[in-house]
Amino acid sequence: MLDYLIIGYGIAGALLAAELRRRGAAYAVVDRAPFESSSRVAAGIWAPLTGLHVARAPWAQQMLETAAEVYPSLERTTELTWYFPQRVFRVFKSPLQQERWLQHRGLPRGPEFLSAWLPPESFPACINAPRGGVEIFGGGRVDTQLMVDGLRRIEQRAGRLYEAEFLPEALHVTDEHIAWGGLTARHLVFCMGSSSLAGTPFDWVPFKSTRGDVLTVEADCNLREIYHGARFLAPAGGGRYRVGASYVHGETTARPGAPEREAIETDLKHMLRVPFRTIDHRAGLRPNTLDNVAVLGSLPCDRRLLIFNGLGSKGVLQAPLLARLLLNYSMYGDALPPEFDVARFMKRWIKSWRLHG
Ligand SMILES: Cc1cc2nc3c(=O)[nH]c(=O)nc-3n(C[C@H](O)[C@H](O)[C@H](O)COP(=O)(O)OP(=O)(O)OC[C@H]3O[C@@H](n4cnc5c(N)ncnc54)[C@H](O)[C@@H]3O)c2cc1C
Repeated sequence: MLDYLIIGYGIAGALLAAELRRRGAAYAVVDRAPFESSSRVAAGIWAPLTGLHVARAPWAQQMLETAAEVYPSLERTTELTWYFPQRVFRVFKSPLQQERWLQHRGLPRGPEFLSAWLPPESFPACINAPRGGVEIFGGGRVDTQLMVDGLRRIEQRAGRLYEAEFLPEALHVTDEHIAWGGLTARHLVFCMGSSSLAGTPFDWVPFKSTRGDVLTVEADCNLREIYHGARFLAPAGGGRYRVGASYVHGETTARPGAPEREAIETDLKHMLRVPFRTIDHRAGLRPNTLDNVAVLGSLPCDRRLLIFNGLGSKGVLQAPLLARLLLNYSMYGDALPPEFDVARFMKRWIKSWRLHG
């Protein structure tokens, strides 16, 4: 019997599987054939501070440290190159933004992640930065498609990955074990990203879908750093850059949108002082909970059924630490940080339990 059966092999499932491997647990993964999942579309940027409101990821320091430990060692196992610690710069696009970011430096832990103001002339000539900007320390980029596909091949070679559609009606939970499609396990973890959880034991967890569009462009500049102005611009090798992303709320299909492409290109024209050419346009659905915080933990009535989801737009930064926290909870009974614990949605569970028993 397996210790863990994982449903879904995006960033969440892949990092959880890697952590199980490190701990010597017996596990298997069920995942559909590769498609445009969020993890295969993502730009893969991580940074401890983001957004107009200078949001600091909760647990930012621990997340950075765990990511810096986990990704390089996983990268070596794939014999590919997909982990790129890179300098990240915020280019101020408005006086309000400038004020907010510089205020953050005044906070007790502000300077830890943020440089002093950088004047316009400290930016490369091809970047339009009339208000200057700041450097955000500790960021970089993971080529998430290469990572997930590389790790997937390892699991396939080891016979641990079953390419199949998980159908909740085929799940059998008894006192002795959890069985699905001929596999039996002591625990089952749902890592299904933005896919519907209808029919699963976690269908009461509130999600909202946000489509993201990302472009790949060729531009005549030689940047090695990530620049974040109205959009991010991240070097992807060979004179190519990933640019984006859009936030289209309430979308349930991951079809790339023409208006989003136009909006990204318009912003990029303001950001770049050199011409560019779009060579690719992709889109995916971010897995977002209603409160925009990742969700971990078990079913209130059965600690063997677990969830690891809601990574939103920060999958790369969050997944390595959260995979460890979830397994510490499941294997050793450690408490989960309440902000991530699925128990924060307990009222919804009680309501659904009353309705369906
Ligand atoms: C345009 C865009 C840009 C982004 N940029 C960044 C970025 O720069 N940095 C960052 O950190 N994050 C970024 N993100 C977010 C990031 O992609 C997500 O946080 C992350 O990929 C979520 O991973 P996941 O494993 O939870 O979900 P997913 O990637 O959706 O993986 C879920 C997996 O479960 C499988 N699955 C689901 N249902 C079933 C079923 N019934 N049967 C079998 N298999 C199933 C799917 O096939 C899939 O493989 C971006 C997202 C988008 C859309």
